[in-house]
Parts: sequence; structure tokens; C-alpha cells
Amino acid sequence: SQESRLPYDRTALSKGYLSGDLEAESLPLRTAAFYQEADIELMLGKKVNQINTASKTIIFDYGESLTYDALLVATGGKPLDLDVPGAGLANVFTLRTPENADRIMAAAKQSSEAVVVGTGFIGMETAAALRKRGLAVTVVGQGRVPFEKALGPEVGGMFQQIHEEKGVSFRLGRQVSRLNGEGKVREVVLDNGERLPAGLVLVGIGVRPATDFLQGVPLNPDHSVTVDPYLSLGNGLYAAGDIARFPDWRTHELIRIEHWQLAELHGFTAAANMCGQREEFRGVPFFWTEQFDTYLYSVGHAHTWDEIIWHGRVQDRNFVAFYVKNGRVLAAAGCGYDHGMAYITELMRAEQLPSPADLRAGKTDLFDHLKVA
Ligand SMILES: Cc1cc2nc3c(=O)[nH]c(=O)nc-3n(C[C@H](O)[C@H](O)[C@H](O)COP(=O)(O)OP(=O)(O)OC[C@H]3O[C@@H](n4cnc5c(N)ncnc54)[C@H](O)[C@@H]3O)c2cc1C
Repeated sequence: SQESRLPYDRTALSKGYLSGDLEAESLPLRTAAFYQEADIELMLGKKVNQINTASKTIIFDYGESLTYDALLVATGGKPLDLDVPGAGLANVFTLRTPENADRIMAAAKQSSEAVVVGTGFIGMETAAALRKRGLAVTVVGQGRVPFEKALGPEVGGMFQQIHEEKGVSFRLGRQVSRLNGEGKVREVVLDNGERLPAGLVLVGIGVRPATDFLQGVPLNPDHSVTVDPYLSLGNGLYAAGDIARFPDWRTHELIRIEHWQLAELHGFTAAANMCGQREEFRGVPFFWTEQFDTYLYSVGHAHTWDEIIWHGRVQDRNFVAFYVKNGRVLAAAGCGYDHGMAYITELMRAEQLPSPADLRAGKTDLFDHLKVA
């Protein structure tokens, strides 16, 4: 890895680490001894500049190279920057690494006002963390409500309300026109002319798959690579995680998902296949988010949906939303139903989820279904 530290929990960066609830010592996934005992050689602080798929060689930026029989590329994403005047000012941040988080925390100590651009998970989690640190936080987003595309307006509206109750302000349906400041950012100017004072700006508008160094492999327009059901690109080369567009075994659509646990599941399948097995990827995507004291778990993947079936009430922040497309439940998101979400994951894996008609009629004890499955 180009990063110098032991592999760590990236998902904590926008949550406990940024809010100050988690110490840096709790970020590593394993101790150095674990890797030694498992006979895994970590090559840290080493950036790969080029991969030659024909000669099966990776070349580092300092000139050395390694050959391989099988290679997994799991290089994740590079956060997108704002493309407006002033985007290069100091105290304008993206968040992907602990170093980014440390710089944001240092700026937060010197600032009383923060603007977060982007109403996706990183933007919203960062807004919550900065608010917990006592900053006045304004979130700017293009959509009508946060998470509208991922979860629909009802769940997005719930998270907006949770943030507003804690004092976060929103400017929705808006874009950033420019950032002003003298060396350091001072204000964010919106497309309607409004000026938001800002000691720091966090940009959470998405990532671009980090694949620039992959020569000889066709890249998709979004810079991802398309793998087969075995997560292979051919000739001993495999891809996983945020960079991989893969066939969804449930819908046969090619999808790309930026989820921690999915990247991990990809890793298991790719590893098996790199060791000579022939295993199709059949994982169920799973995602969680934590904002203030509310946790949401999401299972499956629905790009679009025809209907949402509700169990419980989103107003009570205690619900499961089932996202139905073409007569099938493709995804579910829930608050306060932690066991239920685990059952749904297993039922989805076994293709034994209750039908939309049964879910609509409320005739469903998910645990009973699971026992039968
Ligand atoms: C702040 C934050 C919070 C998140 N929270 C959640 C969450 O709550 N739930 C969830 O499901 N997902 C969450 N995610 C998404 C999740 O972290 C990613 O989907 C996951 O980390 C993807 O794993 P990956 O292995 O594909 O890439 P990464 O975890 O990004 O790992 C890629 C590694 O490759 C290295 N690398 C890149 N290019 C090179 C190169 N040329 N040479 C050498 N090394 C290179 C990178 O530096 C990095 O260490 C979050 C992401 C962020 C940034």
C-alpha cells in the first residue's frame, strides 16, 4: 500500500475518530504481530505506478518491480475535489485517510463555522462529527433531501431532521459557485449568491476509482474496471472493492458499490480464486451509517425501485423499508431493527425473502422465515 500505517478501519474516520470519541490506537484492524504470525509481508509506504499485465509485473514509483502469478488490485477511490474557483484554498478538505481526518480536526480547533458540501454518507457523518465538536455546521447539497438517490426521500428526510434537531443547517437544491478567502477559505458562495462563513470546508461529493496506473486493462468512464463473476480480469489479475464493477448475482446487472463489508467479501472470493478455486461472487451488500445516535443498516442493492414497503414508521425512527423492483425485494434499510436486518441479510443470501405481497400484508415473521430457510 502507498499508505505508511497498518491497515485500519476507514469507516471510523468520519464517525468516532472525527468526533473525538475514538483514539488513533483503535483504528488498526490488526497488530503488526498478526501479519508476521500469518506470514503476510506488508509493504507499506510503497506506491504502485504501473502494472504490466502482459509480463505480470507491478512497478513501484521508486523504480523497483515485483512479478506475480496472481494479483489483486483493491486500490479504492480518490475523493473528488470541487471544480470551482477557490477550491485549492487552505482548509478545504476531503476525507479518505487518518491524515485527512487529523488535518480536519486541527482546522476544527481553530474554526467556529464549517460548511460540508455533499449530502451522501461521508458528508452527513462528517457534519454530525463536526457538530459534536461544537462547530456551527451548514450542509450544502444538490438534491431535495440527503440520501435521496440511495434511500428515498422518507429516510433522507429523517436524517435531515435528526441533524436539524442537533443544530445543523441545510442548503438543499443548491450548488457551490466559488470559495473565497485569502490563502485560507473564509466563505462559501452558493449559486443563489448566498455567502456562508466557513473556517473549514469538507467536500464529500464522491470518489473516482484509483486505477490510473492500470495499463492494458479497459477502464469504464467512471474509471472502474469490470470483472467477471469470479472477480477476475483475466491472466491472473483480479479486482475488488470500490474499483470493481461486478455482476450482481441477484439481478445480473453490473454494479459498483462503495461499501466496507462488500470490499471484504470481494476479498474472500478473489483470494479463493487466486488460489485456484472457481468461486462466483454471491455476497449480499451490507452498509451501515451512524449519525448522532441513530444507526441505519442497509442490505442488498437497489439502484431504483418501484415501491417501498414499510414495516414500522419512519417518523418513529423504528422501521424497515423494503425496496421492491419488478416484484422482488432488492434491498432493505432499517433503524432500530438490528436483529431483523441480520435476518434479512441471511434470507436474501438464501433467496428466501418473503414476497412483496406478504410483506405488504404484514404476514411476516422474519425469524420464522429464517428458521424455515
Ligand atoms: C470516511 C469514510 C467513511 C466510510 N464509512 C463507511 C461505512 O460506514 N460503511 C461502509 O460500508 N463503507 C464506508 N466507507 C466506504 C469504505 O471505506 C470503502 O468502500 C472501502 O474502504 C473500500 O475498500 P477498498 O479496499 O476498495 O479501498 P480502500 O479502503 O480505499 O483501500 C485502498 C488502498 O489502496 C491504496 N492505494 C491506492 N492506490 C495505490 C497505489 N497506486 N499504490 C499503492 N497503494 C495504493 C490506498 O492508499 C488504500 O490504502 C467509508 C469510506 C470513507 C472514506
